[in-house]
Amino acid sequence: MNRIFNFSAGPSVLPVEVLQKAGEEMLDYHGFGLSVMEMSHRSKAYSDIQDEAEQLLRKLMNIPDNYYVLFLQGGASTQFAMVPLNLMNKNNTADFLITGSWASKAQQEAARFGEARIVASSKNDNYSYIPKTVKSDFNPDADYVHICTNNTIYGTRISPDNIPDIGALDLVADMSSNILSEVYDVNKFALIYAGAQKNMGPAGVTVVIIRDDLLGNAMEYTPIMLNYKTHADNGSMYNTPPCYNIYICKLVFEWLDKLGGVSAIEEINKAKAQKLYDYIDNSDFYRGTAEKDDRSLMNVPFVCTNDELNEEFVKQATARGLQNLKGHRSVGGMRASIYNAMSLDGIDALISFMQEFAKQNG
Ligand SMILES: *Cc1c(COP(=O)(O)O)cnc(C)c1O
Repeated sequence: MNRIFNFSAGPSVLPVEVLQKAGEEMLDYHGFGLSVMEMSHRSKAYSDIQDEAEQLLRKLMNIPDNYYVLFLQGGASTQFAMVPLNLMNKNNTADFLITGSWASKAQQEAARFGEARIVASSKNDNYSYIPKTVKSDFNPDADYVHICTNNTIYGTRISPDNIPDIGALDLVADMSSNILSEVYDVNKFALIYAGAQKNMGPAGVTVVIIRDDLLGNAMEYTPIMLNYKTHADNGSMYNTPPCYNIYICKLVFEWLDKLGGVSAIEEINKAKAQKLYDYIDNSDFYRGTAEKDDRSLMNVPFVCTNDELNEEFVKQATARGLQNLKGHRSVGGMRASIYNAMSLDGIDALISFMQEFAKQNG
């Protein structure tokens, strides 16, 4: 077996232990004589899996009882519409912090259903930093404030210590690319959503954590499938849930729980990111593209001094088994996505290749 170091931004690396377990359980899950993929979602065997996934996520994120955990489909992108359809219901206006193209897409979709006010944006600097805000920047009548806690493409994040002060307003966060990577206090959020394919499992399931008082006020024309209440009332089984994907998420949650939970992985993630950023900062061959204070723990974009070198870097790295390092087209250069499942060995292998490449080309 020859596993690459997979620095893909998403779908992304999963823990080997999880893949092994899924392999072992593929043909005969726990003596039931079938694969999870073949089970009725109404069977006890399957509903136990989904219940366990939910309980584990509740434990890992310390989710209070007055929040629902939903397993939905349609990716984080469907949440760009579901959030306004369900929450923009008092004053039909919401505030947005534009810190990247995902945040911008969320704002554009919301603007189709009501007023989607841009409070601050770092677009003019190619989203290389998180704009600072004060409480008075926000509309006290906003039905909610939308942020993206990790900007996958640009490598910036709103850390738990830097969550904007929005007073008593409801905070909605797209946590697709850094959920479970460090400890956020769920109580500070009205709603959290995340596509699974960055830090939880395979593409095809989206986790939504929603405070219960927000249910039941969707716009009148909201499709049944886009109403959170539909899914909350039916334990995420109004229709067939993405069973196998939820099962893999459960295995990932178990892996993380065994490792010591989110605070334990946070330490590891900080050490991993620090090591890579330290190397980049101390090199005159590479340059990080995000502002130091706002750097992501999950996505590390960097560039060489010119485009030919960037291209050559990606080519040679790929041949060495350090793959999917090409940066997003809107930033260029390279991006190392170092999600929870990326080992410190992967970081070390990357740094040692970077050293070698710099020596040869510097
Ligand atoms: C990947 C990503 C999305 C889009 O997710 P889909 O599941 O593909 O719709 C949205 N927001 C962020 C922050 C992302 O990283």
